Order: sequence, then C-alpha cells, then structure tokens
Amino acid sequence: MEVNLLDTPIEYLKGVGPKRGELLRKELGISTYYDLLTHYPFRYVDKSRFYKIAEINNDSAYVQLRGKIVDTEMLGKGASQRFVVTLQDDSGTLELVYFQGIKWIKDKFTIGSEYVVFGKPSLFNGRYNISHPDTELFTEWSATPADPLHPLYSTSEKSKSQGVNSRLLSKLTKSLLPQVKSCILETLPSFILNELKLISRQEALTNIHFPANLELLQKATARLKFEELFFIQLKLLQFKVHRSRTVQGAVFSKIGDYFNSFYNEHLPFELTNAQKKVLREIRLDVGSGQQMNRLLQGDVGSGKTLVALMCMLMALDNGFQACLMAPTEILATQHFHSISKFLSGLDIKVDLLTGSTKANQRKQLHKQLENTDLHLLIGTHALLEDTVQFGNLGLVVIDEQHRFGVEQRAKLWSKSEMPPHILVMTATPIPRTLAMTLYGDLDYSVIDELPPGRKPIKTYHFYENDHSKVYNFLRQQIESGRQAYIVYPLIEESETLDLKNITDGFETICKVFPQYKVSLVHGRLKADEKEAEMQRFKSGETQIMVATTVIEVGVDVPNASVMVIENSERFGLSQLHQLRGRVGRGADQSHCILMSSYKLSKDGRTRIETMVRTNDGFEISDVDLRLRGPGDMEGTRQSGVIDLKIADIIRDEAILKYARRLAEKILAVDPKLEDPQNELLSRQLKFLGRKRTDWSMIS
Ligand code: ADP
Ligand code: MG
Repeated sequence: MEVNLLDTPIEYLKGVGPKRGELLRKELGISTYYDLLTHYPFRYVDKSRFYKIAEINNDSAYVQLRGKIVDTEMLGKGASQRFVVTLQDDSGTLELVYFQGIKWIKDKFTIGSEYVVFGKPSLFNGRYNISHPDTELFTEWSATPADPLHPLYSTSEKSKSQGVNSRLLSKLTKSLLPQVKSCILETLPSFILNELKLISRQEALTNIHFPANLELLQKATARLKFEELFFIQLKLLQFKVHRSRTVQGAVFSKIGDYFNSFYNEHLPFELTNAQKKVLREIRLDVGSGQQMNRLLQGDVGSGKTLVALMCMLMALDNGFQACLMAPTEILATQHFHSISKFLSGLDIKVDLLTGSTKANQRKQLHKQLENTDLHLLIGTHALLEDTVQFGNLGLVVIDEQHRFGVEQRAKLWSKSEMPPHILVMTATPIPRTLAMTLYGDLDYSVIDELPPGRKPIKTYHFYENDHSKVYNFLRQQIESGRQAYIVYPLIEESETLDLKNITDGFETICKVFPQYKVSLVHGRLKADEKEAEMQRFKSGETQIMVATTVIEVGVDVPNASVMVIENSERFGLSQLHQLRGRVGRGADQSHCILMSSYKLSKDGRTRIETMVRTNDGFEISDVDLRLRGPGDMEGTRQSGVIDLKIADIIRDEAILKYARRLAEKILAVDPKLEDPQNELLSRQLKFLGRKRTDWSMIS
C-alpha cells in the first residue's frame, strides 16, 4: 500500500501534468514519484551570496549575480540567431545569451529593472558571458530564502528549452517530499545502520535534495552511496552463492595424456609463474564438482590464449568437449590456426565455425559435435545458434569478452545438459572496481606478468606534418626485414569529421612505398578476402598492412614491429592499447607511432600522453575509467549493470570494497537471507529486481 504512492505516475504530481510528464519520462527517465525522488542533484551551489561581475574568473562554476538589465538585442539570423541581454552591476557588465526559446524570453526582461541571475559563466571571444541563466526579478526573488546548498539537477537541452529545468525539478521535489515522507521505508537493517553509523533512509533522501547543512549532506551521500553499492554486491554474490550450491559442474578429476604430452613435449617455452598460478586456480575449480565461472584478466600478450588452451585440454582429458568463442572472424580463424599448430601431432580433432562456414560443412560439423567425434570447436557468435548442440560440452572459453553481451554468455549454458564451465577473458584489463561490479558474480584470476624477453614497445606522438619523418622511419624498419601496420579510424569519408579515408590512405601508402607490397583490410571485405590478406601479411608476402580497427583484437604476427595509428586522438584508450598490442610480439624492438592533428581536446591529449608514458594495461584502464566514467567504458553499456545513480566506482572504491565484504559476511551465514534480521535486505532485493536487468541471466 505504501509502496504504491511512490509508484504514482509522475504526471499526477501537482505542477507536472501530461505534457511535462512526457518530457520527464522521455528525456530524464523519470516516470514515477520514486524516480523523481531518486533523481539526485549532481551538485550544490551557494545561493546565499551574490558575486560581483568583476569577480568572475576561470575558476567560477555557478554564480549568483544581482544587477540591472541595461540592454536587450536580437543578433544573427536563422540557426545562428541569438538574444543578448546586458546585465550591469557596480563592478561591470556581462552578457546573458539565449539561443533557444527566444520567442518566450525576448519580452520577459524590463530594461532598467533589477534581476537576480544564476548560471555558469563561460569565456567567449575573451569575455565572460552566461548562456541560458536562470533569472528572476529581484523583488520576487527576495521572497525565497537564501540557500547555501541549493541543489542542481541534470536535465537535457530539450527538457530545458521546454521549461523542465533544474529549478523546476527542485520545486517539484520540494513539494513531493512531505507527501511521500511516510512511504520512505528503511531498507537497511539496524545492525548495519548501527555498525556503520548511517542515517535513516528518510533522513538521507530529504537531505540529499535539501541539505540542512554540510554535515547532513555528507551523511546523506554516504548512506545512499553505500546502499546503492551494497545491494548490487548483495545481488551478485547471492546469485553466485546460489549457483555454487545448486548448479553442478562437470568434474575434471584428472590431468591426463593430452595435457601432459602437450605440456611436456609440445609446449615450445616455459609457462610464466603467473600462467601456472592461474592454471592451478582453474584446476581447483573444475575439479570441485561445481560449475566454474571465472574471469581471467591479463594484459595484451600475457598469454591468456595459451592458458585457455591448456584448460581445454583438461576438459578433453576427462572425456569432455570444449569450445572457444571469439568476437571476430579474423580472430576465430587465427585462434583456429595457432591452436591447430600447437596441437599438431596430438590426436585431437579441432574445427572452426563462423558465419562463413558453408551449409554442408556445417551439417557435418553439427553431427560430429553431437556424437562427440569433434573435440574442440573454435568460432564466433555462430556458436550461439540453436542448431549448435554438443554431445558432451565441458568448458566454454569466451575470448575478448567485451564484445559479448550478457545474454550471449548465458545462452551458452543451454548447449549441453549439464552447464559447462565458463572462462571469460577480457581483451585489455579492466579496473578491479569495475570488474567487481560488472563481473562481481565471477571468480577472478589475473596474469600479472608477461613472458620473459619481451622488449617494452616504444611509443611516440607525432603531428600530421611529421608524416615524411614517419615514412622514413618505416622505410628503415622494413629494409631491416620488419613489417608494419598503419591503422585508420574510419572506412568512409565523413564530411563532418574530416577523417582520412582508408582507401585514400591505402593509395597514399602505395605511392609513398612503390617498392613494397601493401595489404588492405577493413570491415567491408568479405571474410575470405580478409583472411587471404591476413595470410599474405602473415607469410611476409606484403610488408605493410593498412587496416581499420578490424585488426584491433588478438591478431598475432610476430614479425610486425611497427604500429602507426592515424588520427589516434579519435580512438579510445583501450582501443589504442589493443592496437599497440599487435606489435611487441617478437624478439625485435617494436614501435608504436601515434599520429594526431594539432587540434587536440584535453582528453585526447591525456589519452595520447598516457599511451606514450606507459605500457601497463592495468594503469591505462584506470586512466580510461577516470576519463570516461564507468557508463562509457566498452561493454558496460550493453550489460546494463552499471546504472549507478549516486555512487562512483572510482571515487567510492573504499565504500565498494566495504560493501562487498559486508555482503559476503552476511551471505556466508545466511545465503538465502531468511534470518529475520535480514528481512529488509531480501525485501529490497525483490523490489530492485523488478526494475533491473534479469540478473539470473548473467553467467
Ligand atoms: P593474449 O593474452 O593477448 O591473448 P596470447 O595468448 O595471444 O596473449 O600470447 C601472446 C604471444 O605470447 C603468443 O605468441 C604466445 O604463443 C606467446 N606466449 C604465451 N605464453 C608464453 C610464455 N610463457 N613464454 C613465451 N611466450 C609465450
Ligand atoms: Mg588474446
């Protein structure tokens, strides 16, 4: 009954109505009272004082000004039309600029009257102005109390232009709070509140919007952040506990001939200690009788694929089949070749299944899978098709995880009667806190060591005018027997982005290097054409590979030692790191050259500088997370898991870790949350479960 009031559609709130209701829903995702209540301010500003116009400087965030309107003026035409209002106080003048909604604004101001203006100054042509500030006649303003911690809410341009701005949200929330206060139920049991000295949920929700003072704001923030992270961890861990108690896994009880003869006779090098450690962890899992669900992290080139292969041999040794799923056809094909080579001489049947496998071949393959004639299948998404059924699948390895959605992972469960063990490998490292949130239900292994003898790749930054220098360097390298990649960001000319067209690039390179053979690979080629070009490059027939990011992941050509990335400022950090990982695979010194235009955004420069500074994928992933925020990290959006309203997995790492430990502690004693003291927890999980992704689908 009480929960129902918070479920009330937002248009029923006084001051909303159907039109604003629609805007709130569509633009801001606010459909109910509850949604409005949990649309938290992103910042608080001091509205208790007035700034002088002359005080505005580069550090000014939001300022409140008081002055007279001395002029209004319509400037420009059509799309560039703007309405400019000049505000004056005793320290100077400032322009207020409106680009949208001009027809509503233009008659609003009375020249000579005094106004209160609130907004964020920005520098334009050497002068500060404020676009689209909040304004009020001073006489009307004095009625509202001065607010030292005034909430600002995020809105969209569209909602703002139609009056649904931060001010309105604050007004609506202010009127909503007293109405629903008694419906705000506690979600955390008192033993947690007491232990962590957290304030009640009701107090927290009130003070997060309208803090009585700074101390209460901090307490409200702490309480809500903890709660948010805690329930995510509780959900993930409860799922994990449930799975480990109820889901049986194939038992790989022995290490047999395949593994041993591969390890003793076929493996051309010694495993690194990190690889051995991870293999031991996996060995314990797959021998336990429970289904393994493990995330394997390791930097580019740390030898994850080899670990995966040895796990698959464990499966084979115990009479099970195994499969390896890769995100692209190039990568699947390459895995197929390198694994076939590793296994040559061993009596193991390996095959490849991709989108371009022919129908009759496919039929045969399906049969061999079902009657277990085929031991090891490597492929792409094609493995997920319903027609692909295994007779006795024991292990699934998912390589370069970030390209696969959560549902696809779960689908692999149904490939065999007993769910197979699952090993997920990420392409580049992801920060530990992100892994804890995204893959919090998986066990975690890390290869934190590269095979010995690798020379760190040298990375340089050059501007577009330096091409001839770079070409000279390429010539030198190729003359001494090396090969080079040149990567371009887009396939087609884009008028707006002014990017180099890859075919233009290809022609340029052919002209600059008439003495060499050049391969061209991009997304528009058919799979067999791509494969043929890759083979030409791999065999050394071509010296230069001009490509788009189709070569980003996993491609392994040890003789290629130079990676040139054009318009590198257009790439994300993990992409750059992946691309760079294509070199540095042989014995020779490798080089990565990042080309960019002179115009670099702040983030673009940070990305390039980070690449030049370090080769450490874990460090790079931290910078990436900081620059982009968790919502924009590759793979997080489609997962739908990271949908944090207030917590921040970078800044709130300590809270996150604490929340996880507490969730573990509680579930260790009461895995089903049946104890009366945990009743609130199980109730809140059910409530959150209504809104969120179907967590049971996460493997
Ligand atoms: P990634 O972790 O990026 O998938 P790979 O598995 O592709 O790395 O390994 C990169 C290269 O290093 C491969 O050529 C692989 O054969 C080689 N390699 C793997 N493990 C070792 C090792 N212990 N010693 C030497 N080379 C290794
Ligand atoms: Mg790999």
